[in-house]
Amino acid sequence: MLTGKEPAQAIKDEVAERITKLGKRVGLATVLVGDDPASEVYVRMKHKAAAKVGMYTYDHHIPGDTPQGEVEDLVRNLNADPAVDGILVQLPLPDGLNPDTVIDIIDPGKDADGLHPYSLGLIMLERSGGAVPATPQGIMKMLDFYDIETEGKLAVVIGRSRLVGRPMGMLLNHKAANSTVVYAHSRTKDLESITAMADILIVAAGRPGLVTVNGVKPGAVVVDVGINRVDDQLVGDVDFDSIAEVASAITPVPGGVGPMTIASLLLNTVALAETRAEAG
Ligand code: NAD
Repeated sequence: MLTGKEPAQAIKDEVAERITKLGKRVGLATVLVGDDPASEVYVRMKHKAAAKVGMYTYDHHIPGDTPQGEVEDLVRNLNADPAVDGILVQLPLPDGLNPDTVIDIIDPGKDADGLHPYSLGLIMLERSGGAVPATPQGIMKMLDFYDIETEGKLAVVIGRSRLVGRPMGMLLNHKAANSTVVYAHSRTKDLESITAMADILIVAAGRPGLVTVNGVKPGAVVVDVGINRVDDQLVGDVDFDSIAEVASAITPVPGGVGPMTIASLLLNTVALAETRAEAG
């Protein structure tokens, strides 16, 4: 089983060391708009993890009816604040707010979640120097930690969101990974026959039970990104028990990709702080 705890701890240990070596305060600011309970939990977990590695956190929790202009002004203030090295705007934003224009305003040099168009542009070009979206980065680091070969493998990614699916496919497509990538999404026809070809199957749809054992090739590596609340329990997008019997490796939900996402956010933040320190 591909659990996230050990590889996430390895990243967090590295982050703590890099903060000590940097010898200055590293600050992560979070922006949470509204009272979505799941988002509140995620932001709390991010703060806790940041504090544990020695990062300072700045918590901006504002009402769900805050006008777009005020949310954007908050981000502009954080851009200008020298104590802030990384900015995370927790998604999704409440209905009525446009996440694109909020994210566009984040200084790419403080883009802790790696979702700014500049950061994503660097990913498309396979160029270093920007933040890498936290969840796909965490998955790549997890595959690396468990010595899972990506070169020449057929990787099927279900989902094409800015947050997970699309950058995930790009990272697997990079020469550093050399997978052959197929994107599947809500308009894909005959999903099962496509996923059944995958050596590496990444599922990021937010649909519980989307992938059953019939859609998994024996020996495949299955990464379940989905987080869904069903009957008061957290479940992923795949039928874990039956797939675990045929897959060579599978991530659990919870305890798989989630911890890697948080660790990657911290890694992005310390890397941004180092770049800012170098630039003086
Ligand atoms: P999203 O809603 O923005 O995107 C979902 C994607 O899945 C879309 O591209 C859509 O085309 C595709 N999709 C939807 N239904 C489908 C279907 N029936 N068949 C094939 N494709 C389908 O969601 P997102 O932000 O990318 O998140 C996806 C899931 O991952 C959610 O459950 C979310 O909670 C979870 N998530 C987990 C982490 C983590 O750290 N574990 C991080 C981010 C998101």
